[in-house]
Amino acid sequence: MKLLEERIRRDGVIKKGNVLKVDSFINHQMDIPLFNEMGKEFKRLFADAKVDKILTIEASGIGIACVVAQYFDCPVVFAKKAQSINLDGEMYTTKIESFTHKRVYDVIVSKKFLHPGDHVLIIDDFLANGCAVNGLIELIENAGAIVEGVGIAVEKGFQIGGKLIRDRGIHLESLAIVESMDDETGTIVFREQ
Ligand code: 5GP
Repeated sequence: MKLLEERIRRDGVIKKGNVLKVDSFINHQMDIPLFNEMGKEFKRLFADAKVDKILTIEASGIGIACVVAQYFDCPVVFAKKAQSINLDGEMYTTKIESFTHKRVYDVIVSKKFLHPGDHVLIIDDFLANGCAVNGLIELIENAGAIVEGVGIAVEKGFQIGGKLIRDRGIHLESLAIVESMDDETGTIVFREQ
């Protein structure tokens, strides 16, 4: 999606450790007209998908997911990072290692909001090593629901997550795929798609 690529080139900041900061339009301040264009694009890319529900993870996936959901006319559920897990059987749980914070979170979704047979579209801001998306897939599978697809704003194509998900035959669409980025020169190369 050219609009997103141009915005990343203009306002994205490449940090050491393969981190791309997009705080001025996605991760802290949010550009809603841009999110709206992303929603339209996901709707086009998943035009044939049956989507009952969008699943994302707190915190930074929530804003994008809410705008995208308006195009699919469905609710958004966000997986919560839990301080402690209440093992009363009312929650689906998994563990997710955070790429940016370098720690493992227990992540939960209430059984009230994910049902067997639900067709679920996963939406998130970034795809790096795939831990977040894999955790969300696990929650969906534990619920007996169906992974309809995965929609990502920015995939870092030089990390393994995208390949792992595509190799599983899951329909993955990333609006911008960063092929390489250099924190010293500020150079960023996108995959043609
Ligand atoms: P993964 O689980 O695929 O390794 O990493 C994806 C998660 O880590 C995303 O939910 C996102 O919040 C965060 N993340 C990974 N890489 C980046 C990055 O380069 N920039 C930002 N802002 N977040 C990232």
